[in-house]
Amino acid sequence: MCKLISIIVPCYNESQAIPCFYEAITAQSELMTGKYNVKFEYVFIDDGSKDNTLQVIKSYASQDERITYVAFSRNFGKEAAMYAGLQQAAGDYIAIMDADLQDPPYMLSSMYESIVNDGYDCAATRRVNRHGEPPVRSFFARCFYKIINKISHTDIVDGARDYRLMTRQMVDAILDMGEYNRFSKGIFGWVGFNTKWLEFENTERVAGETKWSFWGLFLYSLDGITAFSTMPLAIASIIGLLFCAIAFIIILVIIAKTLIWGDRVAGYPSLVCIIFLIAGVQTFCIGILGQYLAKTYLETKKRPIYIVKEINN
Ligand code: UDP
Ligand code: MG
Repeated sequence: MCKLISIIVPCYNESQAIPCFYEAITAQSELMTGKYNVKFEYVFIDDGSKDNTLQVIKSYASQDERITYVAFSRNFGKEAAMYAGLQQAAGDYIAIMDADLQDPPYMLSSMYESIVNDGYDCAATRRVNRHGEPPVRSFFARCFYKIINKISHTDIVDGARDYRLMTRQMVDAILDMGEYNRFSKGIFGWVGFNTKWLEFENTERVAGETKWSFWGLFLYSLDGITAFSTMPLAIASIIGLLFCAIAFIIILVIIAKTLIWGDRVAGYPSLVCIIFLIAGVQTFCIGILGQYLAKTYLETKKRPIYIVKEINN
């Protein structure tokens, strides 16, 4: 029986990149249709683009009936776009791919073979280097992966891209995770299944520019931590305990000193330092608590992950 492969493409202001992407993916599809018994569908998600991305997608959709598109009412972010794509995709095998060709289409063949011939549930990709990326960004990215893997039970792979091919079964498991605060790199790991990791060298995007600012990535990393670890809460409690212990020791020392040498008023500067330190630590810990409370607050509202403005078929 002929299997269907769905390619999900989240697009935000990608009108320049889509033509190159479409050319590359159709070439790859032809190659694979000739080689294996497969058909393709492309699910384009227009994530509230401000340029004419939607028009470009529509013009391709009018010529190619394999194209499905969903247009959001505003920019909901790549996570929401991927979720919408997964919901929309009808394939037996489902892939997620960026529109900027940073995810090389030629890899689809080996991904498909890993699943069909080697029995994996998922074939995912990771970059072995970060060439062409600002060094500061790479440094912080590495720190983030080190930290999150220490404090979370979910395996979150350094350099992993969202580019992956999955079986229907795995996608259904992901769709069951309807949380609002979505961090896909964690969700993919959390659902389990056998994943084969394929490595490739980083390539620069064909056209347009990255949507990620340093600050945006930093906030995203905090989302990831709160979504997949409660360790920061434990750390806050431990810091609290530690400070109580230190305070207790200092009290004993002061009592002893007063009994031996009598009460001499001194140490105003050190007192000020201590007050500042404790206030800082307290605010920091309340901040951690606030992060989790905020996420819980958003989650309890049960707002939709995205809103559709337009959809074909
Ligand atoms: N993207 C999206 N919504 C957003 C931001 C990005 O759908 O709010 C899409 C974007 O169009 C691209 C993919 O997500 O197809 C990856 O974005 P980008 O290339 O900017 O990220 P990078 O590759 O630099 O990590
Ligand atoms: Mg990119």
